[in-house]
Amino acid sequence: MNAEILAVGTELLLGDIVNTNAQFIAQGLAELGITVHYQTVVGDNPERMKKAMNIAFERADVIITTGGLGPTEDDLTKEIGAEYFGRELILDEKALERIKTAFRKMNREMTENNVKQAMVPKDAIVMYNDNGTAPGIIIENKDKILIMMPGPPKEMKPMFSEQVKPYLAGKQEYTLVSRTLRIAGVGESSMETRVKDIIDSQTNPTIAPYAKETESVLRVTAKAKTAEEAEKLIEPMAEKIYSRFGINVYAEGETTMQETVAKMLIDSKTTIAVAESCTGGLVAAKLIEYPGISEVLIEGAVTYTNDAKMRRLGVKKETLDKYGAVSPQTAVEMAEGIAKTAGAAIGLSTTGVAGPGPSEGKPEGLVYVGIYINGETYTKELHFNGKRNAVRERAAYSALDILRRKIVKNI
Ligand code: ATP
Ligand code: MG
Repeated sequence: MNAEILAVGTELLLGDIVNTNAQFIAQGLAELGITVHYQTVVGDNPERMKKAMNIAFERADVIITTGGLGPTEDDLTKEIGAEYFGRELILDEKALERIKTAFRKMNREMTENNVKQAMVPKDAIVMYNDNGTAPGIIIENKDKILIMMPGPPKEMKPMFSEQVKPYLAGKQEYTLVSRTLRIAGVGESSMETRVKDIIDSQTNPTIAPYAKETESVLRVTAKAKTAEEAEKLIEPMAEKIYSRFGINVYAEGETTMQETVAKMLIDSKTTIAVAESCTGGLVAAKLIEYPGISEVLIEGAVTYTNDAKMRRLGVKKETLDKYGAVSPQTAVEMAEGIAKTAGAAIGLSTTGVAGPGPSEGKPEGLVYVGIYINGETYTKELHFNGKRNAVRERAAYSALDILRRKIVKNI
């Protein structure tokens, strides 16, 4: 089955609005394994809309339109769709009732042209709209399907996810299931090299590598008659990836690094305190994204100057004089200092040169992470490319990842 997305609206052609509907629908169709060869945009002009629909049905089994279902004169999609299949428009009582109720709730007078929104093509499937007045419509005719949805994304998105997607999934002979494995600490090219043999010989499931800002992702997708069958096909492939990447695979799905680490700390009831220099609170902020972290996160201190590092954390003046603020020695004393003063089981520290340019003769992008855990302190030297905030972001992410690895090994 292949589909064409037909976005209707002169505003789109003028560049007044971006066609985010097409993007959203395209992603959803890809998840269903429905091919999209064309996306079209047409203005609110009946002749050109008809033409666009004719062309689209020459090359697609399914057309999905958005826009032009409203009550005004220039909203014509439904009329043109009905005409294409030679269907008359009839009043849908339920749709009318819902429109009336909506107007009552808004305390607004319902005008005659709103009745137009309750008119639907004969024998169509009506998708009632919980977020607006215009219902969506599906017309099936032999092997062609026309799906029409309202233009406003807040109406279209739930309608697509809750009604159109299940409908189309039911038409598909096969279902697609994906599992996403998130990998930290392995660069994109290195990741690809490590799975090149699998990629080269892949059939079903397929694997697709993606590089994100701070991490890499491998998506395994299988096609089968049922979701269970697809999951069974994915399982051995996922195991293979786990065995190749080991501890570098930190989570699956949409789980973030901070969620993973926060959960580990909470589950093991391990308290933590964070002392940050170059990351300026980002590590603490990331942990705090996780609800429930208050059980284990005692404190975060942004100790930016040497004075603050000495006063708040007890970093020794000699250490700073001899090795500098950006040094493994300082990272160690920061981690130990915050753990001790906060009374935490773990002390995590960051100190580095976020840039632009070098500092204390140390290059931009050099960062040390310190971890005090189980009475011992470790440091790791890291080098990052990129602008100031990218360095800070990567440093915070890596600090959490290094901590995660230590916890995995210690538990
Ligand atoms: P309404 O009842 O609001 O008139 P409609 O179904 O007739 O809805 P349009 O009039 O075509 O839809 O568009 C309404 C609004 O929806 C636009 O002003 C725009 O904000 C948004 N919209 C329409 N099409 C798209 C699109 N393809 N991508 C993103 N937003 C869109
Ligand atoms: Mg409109």
